[in-house]
Amino acid sequence: MIDSHAHLDAPEFAGQGMVAYQEAQTLGVRGILIPAVCPDNFIAVQELANSALGAGFTLGIHPMYVESLDEAHALSQLNEAVAAALTDARFVGIGEIGLDYFVPGLDREKQLRMFQAQLRLARDLELPVVMHVRRSADHIARECRRFGIKHGVAHAFNGSEQQAHALIKQGLCLGFGGAFTYGRALQLRRLAQHLPLDCLVLETDAPDIAPVWLAGEFTGQPNSPVQLPRIAACLALLRQESLALIQEQTTQNVVRSVPRMRSLVRPA
Ligand SMILES: [Zn+2]
Repeated sequence: MIDSHAHLDAPEFAGQGMVAYQEAQTLGVRGILIPAVCPDNFIAVQELANSALGAGFTLGIHPMYVESLDEAHALSQLNEAVAAALTDARFVGIGEIGLDYFVPGLDREKQLRMFQAQLRLARDLELPVVMHVRRSADHIARECRRFGIKHGVAHAFNGSEQQAHALIKQGLCLGFGGAFTYGRALQLRRLAQHLPLDCLVLETDAPDIAPVWLAGEFTGQPNSPVQLPRIAACLALLRQESLALIQEQTTQNVVRSVPRMRSLVRPA
């Protein structure tokens, strides 16, 4: 299985993100995708991805970081970093990009302009996208259609069934992680149970979105790729499918959606 979304460079890991990934590898995690969030962490994610087997990174500007950045400057930093990364086998796509309509006070027009500029970059370079979709699935699907984006992941998907199908129709995979492990997440659990398995990918979103078994416990530990096997087991139970099938199919889905991951993933 592959953790398709983990911010191993986040301060919560205090420099130990790769230690967590190494532990996850001993539990059967064969690959990991580490997305950037803003120009300040481009180097960090590239270095991390180059320090372990099975690790890839993406470059992009996350919608929650858009607010504080100068648009033109940030985009030129992104363009330069992407151009330089194209020869790095660990560089696998554009992300984390997207639209956040949940957090109050964000400038939606600025978010949209930055999102569109990054979709254009992905389209021009034929790279997949890793997207943050929060209360924005309709706009995300619309923009992906407009820019002809056919590869990528809508990470931590938490929309309606109709929105799920609009993204799937576009060719995108949907990321499922800690959020569906909560019994009260009825709609999300229904989707995790009934959507076609060939459009789901597993993720932890470490250090965020703790699964139910970490919530409420004060462990002092951030959510981590170590939790991925148990998340996979939860999905298998929910879908009444074998764990082996879940692991294999979701791995295939990651390498289909993010083709440059194919050469990185460790053999089973
Ligand atoms: Zn993220």
